[in-house]
Amino acid sequence: MPRVHNFSAGPAMLPQEVLQIASEEMLDWQGSGMSVMEMSHRGPEFIGIYERAVADLRSLLAIPENYKVIFLQGGGLGENAIVPMNMLRGKSEIDFVVTGTWSEKSAQEAAKFAKVNIAASAKADGFTHIPAVSSWKQSANAAYLHICQNETIDGVEFQGTPDIGNQILVSDVSSMILSRPMDVSKYGLIFGGAQKNIGPAGLTIVIVREDLLGGALAYTPDVFNYAVQGKADSMYNTPPTYAIYIAGLVFQWLKKRGGLAAMQAHNATKASLLYDALDASDFYKTKVQKAFRSRMNVPFFLPDEKLYVPFLKGADERGLLQLKGHRSVGGLRASIYNAMPLEGVQALVSYLAEFEKSHG
Ligand SMILES: *Cc1c(COP(=O)(O)O)cnc(C)c1O
Repeated sequence: MPRVHNFSAGPAMLPQEVLQIASEEMLDWQGSGMSVMEMSHRGPEFIGIYERAVADLRSLLAIPENYKVIFLQGGGLGENAIVPMNMLRGKSEIDFVVTGTWSEKSAQEAAKFAKVNIAASAKADGFTHIPAVSSWKQSANAAYLHICQNETIDGVEFQGTPDIGNQILVSDVSSMILSRPMDVSKYGLIFGGAQKNIGPAGLTIVIVREDLLGGALAYTPDVFNYAVQGKADSMYNTPPTYAIYIAGLVFQWLKKRGGLAAMQAHNATKASLLYDALDASDFYKTKVQKAFRSRMNVPFFLPDEKLYVPFLKGADERGLLQLKGHRSVGGLRASIYNAMPLEGVQALVSYLAEFEKSHG
């Protein structure tokens, strides 16, 4: 069976080169006689793997010296609770900008720990745009303002970093981290689960400005306390070692491909190819306003509910997999993360034309 073009939103496809290396090193990692899965997280072999992964991530994202990189478990949804527990710092209110399903979920979870102020919401228009920053109603008492950089389900992306003055900006970058360069110094904290654009599920990455640490709520579990984990270099408990190893291989792959500027160009090419094809047709519909379209997740719709089954069947037959939209919004969705080659999007675009011709 040849490898398919996998458009899953996550867990998502990984670069074939990375899977190849992992398979070659599965039984014996570089002469150690062990699989990475069998190594002590405190042994020299794994510490080497860990340190290289952190250093490569720092260099890819140009992470400033005064930021901690923390590798945790718990996923994006876990962080929805862990971020407030750590970041309230004596305050009791948080600002949220709700631009889709994930930021809405974040706000709901945070309400268990703090007073939530919805500074802006695009829910009324079905999450098809991002409200202008000038319209956001920030609270003077908020500990920070939370955004979701890329709404994986709705297909809405902040193209840059909103300017919110002196307020601390926290961003859920789960589905866009490493897809393009970003200025980490403009954020107090960014977090993301690895399974969208980095590696296997089970690893969560937190990048946080050091001066914001130390003010966690008293009941914060130690394993989820950024100050504790930062001080212990993510080894207060056993970190997700194998997921960190795979993430490290992905970081090396990204560096070899020219880093994040090259990735940005690669992703822009793929996204324009797909959006142009959708725009050129009256058959396919997209909902998100052009200026806010995600370069990673492309939701689109067919003119008739009856067409989804034959569309997905034909796609499967052509090796174009996991194109079904999220159950909450329906329709179709193509996730085109870093690891999706241009040929995958080209094959999808050809199929779009073919399907329209036979069913339009
Ligand atoms: C997938 C996703 C999450 C949730 O991740 P889990 O690992 O399932 O908890 C949160 N935020 C965003 C933006 C996501 O894409």
